[in-house]
Amino acid sequence: MNFGTSRASAIENLNKFVDQNLFEYSKLRNFDFGPENKSNTSCLSPYITHGVINELEVIKKSLSKFSFTKNEKFIQEILWRTYWKGWLELRPGVWIDYLNDLKKIREEFKDNTDYKNAIEGNTSIECFNEWVKELKENNYLHNHTRMWFASIWVFTLDLPWQLGAEFFMKNLYDGDAASNTLGWRWVTGIQTQGKNYLASEWNIKKFTNNRFNKIKLNENAPPKFSDKTYSIIKQDFSNSEIIENQSLLIFENNLSFEITDFQNNKFKKIYIISNNNENRYIKLSEKVLKFKSLLIKDQEQRLKNKSIDCEIIDIGEIKNISNKTIGLYPTVGENLDYLNSNNLKIDFLYRRLDQYSWQYCNKGFFNFKNYIPKIISTFN
Ligand SMILES: Cc1cc2nc3c(=O)[nH]c(=O)nc-3n(C[C@H](O)[C@H](O)[C@H](O)COP(=O)(O)OP(=O)(O)OC[C@H]3O[C@@H](n4cnc5c(N)ncnc54)[C@H](O)[C@@H]3O)c2cc1C
Repeated sequence: MNFGTSRASAIENLNKFVDQNLFEYSKLRNFDFGPENKSNTSCLSPYITHGVINELEVIKKSLSKFSFTKNEKFIQEILWRTYWKGWLELRPGVWIDYLNDLKKIREEFKDNTDYKNAIEGNTSIECFNEWVKELKENNYLHNHTRMWFASIWVFTLDLPWQLGAEFFMKNLYDGDAASNTLGWRWVTGIQTQGKNYLASEWNIKKFTNNRFNKIKLNENAPPKFSDKTYSIIKQDFSNSEIIENQSLLIFENNLSFEITDFQNNKFKKIYIISNNNENRYIKLSEKVLKFKSLLIKDQEQRLKNKSIDCEIIDIGEIKNISNKTIGLYPTVGENLDYLNSNNLKIDFLYRRLDQYSWQYCNKGFFNFKNYIPKIISTFN
């Protein structure tokens, strides 16, 4: 697996997937054929997470090939991300509680042998060990494998989901506060209260094309329980006014300014914000940091090619910018946490897709799904 670190490679992958594999997506998407054979899903998440390409452009490309009906499954998956994002925006306390719990659990488990064996891929479960290796080597796992992995972590290895989610965030190129935290919560049974996802031997065998056998798992565990409930916090996602002579901050979730809703606005300068481990609560692996840094450099180069004044700065330097600034909204996660905890009051610009879709994220995905045709017709 090779994830090129430019918008050009993202576009190339998108085009190739749509031309050659999209037609079989709904039939094959649940299969994980192994690290060397990933063409049955798009593998676009590392790019979409970083805004190198965006959801609407992927959907548009898919609709240029097939009708909405034929594409429905793929479009639904693309918009799961938007849904999870919106769900967390309306309940930011879930992320804050996750990090606070993680702090305590890390301390409790720092010498725990089962935990250490799990992250080293030294358990008695062969497929799990292979996935640990794959995650560290390729920084990506198939969606079904993420579900099996999380389920085995929680229900067979009996480890806290918070540590598993941290392990994913450290190593995934597409690591994302919303999709990851809520994906793990969903597997454990605290996201949809009382409904957990249990990995089973037959399911792993079938969907790995018999690559693994004799998988001894706890297939009957009850869901985990959390007494924390989160009511929706009403938020104002309206855009701040863009005034003359303002500079723009771009965070790691919007690394293609030229396709944003604000591409035609004039900014004095664009600052692309890099966030290294110093200011992250979850420390990312060297490979993930490098991936981000190369994507950031690619964005800088593309802006320079258009003669747009821009500079890459570390998040710690935002406070030294003397111009008036405005920022593309970084969404709930480590970058927003940094701004809040350092009392950096920045006015934000929100993507139109988010402003429109997040109003439908108050309930479950099945409810959100009903609005997908409306979302598509609004933006297409
Ligand atoms: C425990 C767990 C943790 C996860 N952590 C992350 C994460 O940190 N970052 C991340 O981007 N995704 C995460 N996912 C969601 C999903 O696994 C990946 O987005 C998907 O595997 C990416 O592969 P793909 O691009 O080939 O997907 P495709 O099947 O080609 O789907 C196309 C796009 O749809 C979106 N998408 C698909 N499935 C999901 C989903 N279940 N949730 C949200 N968006 C989805 C992605 O943007 C993806 O690129 C997680 C899922 C689980 C179960």
